[in-house]
Order: sequence, then structure tokens, then C-alpha cells
Amino acid sequence: MSRFLNDRLASLEAYTPGEQPQDKAYIKLNTNESPFPPSKSVLSAVNRAAAKRLRLYCDPECKVLTNSLAKLYGVESKNIFLSNGSDDILNFAFMAYGDMGAIFPDITYGFYKVFAELHGVNTEIIPLCDDFSIDSDAFMGKNKLIVIANPNAPTGMALALDTIEEIVKSNPDGVVLIDEAYVDFGGESCVNLTKKYDNLLCVGTFSKSRSMAGARLGFAVASDALISDLEKIKYSTNPYNINTLTQLAGAAAVRDNDYYMNNCQKIIKNREYTVNELEKLGFTVLPSSANFVFAKSDKISGKELYLKLKEKGVLIRHFEKDRIKDFNRITIGSAKEMRIFIQKTKEILGEF
Ligand SMILES: *Cc1c(COP(=O)(O)O)cnc(C)c1O
Repeated sequence: MSRFLNDRLASLEAYTPGEQPQDKAYIKLNTNESPFPPSKSVLSAVNRAAAKRLRLYCDPECKVLTNSLAKLYGVESKNIFLSNGSDDILNFAFMAYGDMGAIFPDITYGFYKVFAELHGVNTEIIPLCDDFSIDSDAFMGKNKLIVIANPNAPTGMALALDTIEEIVKSNPDGVVLIDEAYVDFGGESCVNLTKKYDNLLCVGTFSKSRSMAGARLGFAVASDALISDLEKIKYSTNPYNINTLTQLAGAAAVRDNDYYMNNCQKIIKNREYTVNELEKLGFTVLPSSANFVFAKSDKISGKELYLKLKEKGVLIRHFEKDRIKDFNRITIGSAKEMRIFIQKTKEILGEF
């Protein structure tokens, strides 16, 4: 760090992304990517002709992609915002609405805290209940920027749509941001509620269910007033923040929506298999509506299991955080990957 950095950034603790090792081929169950490749139309959209268009600036309005997403979700184009990954949108939301103070659970996506600090936002942290569910009552009548991942990460547990609506209704003077990164794996989307409530910001991503983590594409669905706030920030920072290839890939992915939703069904099946096998091995597994499970064993610590699996070529995610350090978050991959994960876990437990 230089002596020139401002005080707020000097004391900021940056987000630590999951490991993305480039040295050897792990079975990678640590950052909730899809085990399935992008669809055929995506692969053919990102071709030589598309690469030649990189000479020119991309469409800052992302018209084609915006219109196709609007159609998919049954809203108007003015209710869709696109950005460089949904992290970008979360960042914009803390920037735009942080002055009212922000409130989110203690155990949730680690980036919320980072964005709050980055923008000097006062935060109220609500502990999860003892069963690791979100204490929804604690979010009623706050009229702040409310940030909830639904399903939550890293627990995988979801809130019912009715509960989300109660939270939105009871905070008419606050913005309620629902982060739906994992909604396609069994959660209930609040997209339709955005037509009824002008304070609801529904955020999604192409990184998980749509096999495009490396392309960086996130979206928001909300009232036109909230969307124009986000547009204002985008046009004040980087209007060209979604590159040409990602725009083409994104539009192709929307055309192949059935392929991706079908993949989600496969993930759900593999999740059921994994939960079942882990429970047979004595693990406690939280009820997951996401493409990962959060599990702990009383035979081995979370850290030890993570390290031993890594030695055996399987990467999972461990968080060294008080309430959850006994747990590991395990991404649900292909059927074969999950069989290997279970096999290696059995070997490790057998050594004890
Ligand atoms: C993965 C994830 C994101 C980030 O998605 P990107 O679109 O890749 O930036 C946002 N929120 C949650 C809860 C996530 O797990």
C-alpha cells in the first residue's frame, strides 16, 4: 500500500474470491460454477466474426440482450438493467442507496460487507436463527437498504416468496435488494413482485445457472425509477461495461433457456444424491435450494476435510468464520464429480 491511499480504502478489507487454481485440474466444487458447458448457440455466437467486432465499442444500451431478457421475464425493457456481473450491480446499489444505512444477515455473501465499507455505509447485521434460517422478522419496518440473498449463501436456505413480499411491504421507504444468484436451483423468484412494488430490486446473474461465470454478466429487474438510478451510475463510471462477446453470448443463452433450466434439474438430482450420501456418512446438511450444500461432520473439522480433499484433487470452500467454521460449502457438479467427491470423503473419514 502506498502512503497516498485515502483512509477509507487503506482500512478496507477487500473480498477474497474462492481459489481459481491454474496449475492443476481439480474437481472444482468451490465457487458454484456450472459443470455444464455453455449452450451450442452460445459457442457459435462467440465466433471469428464476433471477435472482429471487438475493433468497435460495444452497444452501451445492450439493446438485443435487454429486449430478450425482458421478454423472458415478462417485463418491459425499461425494467431491466445489465452490468458486468451481478457484483457490479450490488456495488452500484450500495453506492446509490447506502445513505439510508444497510441491513443484512451475519452469515451471507461476503461481498455485502465489503461494498458497505467501500462506500462508508452504516450497517446493521442480523444474526441468522439457530437453524441458520434468515430471521425475517428482524427486517420488518427498517426502511433501509435491505440486502438478502435468496436462496442465501453459503447456507443454501431459501425464504418463501410471501415472506419476501412482507419485507418489501413493510419497508416502503427503503430499497429491498433480493440477490437471486441461486434462484434457478429451487428458490422462488421475486421478479413478478417488481411490477407491484417500486422499492424492490431483484438481482440475477448468468454466472451460476447459465454457465457463464467467466463472461461477467449480471442483471437487475425493478421499477423504471430504480433502473434509471443504476443507469445513471453506469453512465457515470463505465457505459461500455459489458463487452461485445458477452452481449452476444448472453442473448444466445436466453434463446437456449430450456437447455439451462434442464441443467438445473440435473443439478437438483445430483444435490439429492449428495445430501443423501453425506447424511449416510453422518454429516449434518442444511436444506439447500441452491447449487451447493453446506455440511458439517462431527468426525472431522471443516478445515481438515477441506485440506485433505484438496490433497486428493477435490476443491471445496471453507470459511474460517466463527459460527460456520465446522462447515464446508460444496458446489454440486456433475454426477461423476459428486461420486468422486463422496468416494474421497469416505476415504478420508476411513483414515480416522
Ligand atoms: C456468485 C454470487 C454473486 C456474483 O455473481 P457474478 O454475477 O458472478 O458477479 C452474487 N451474489 C451471490 C450471493 C453469489 O453467490
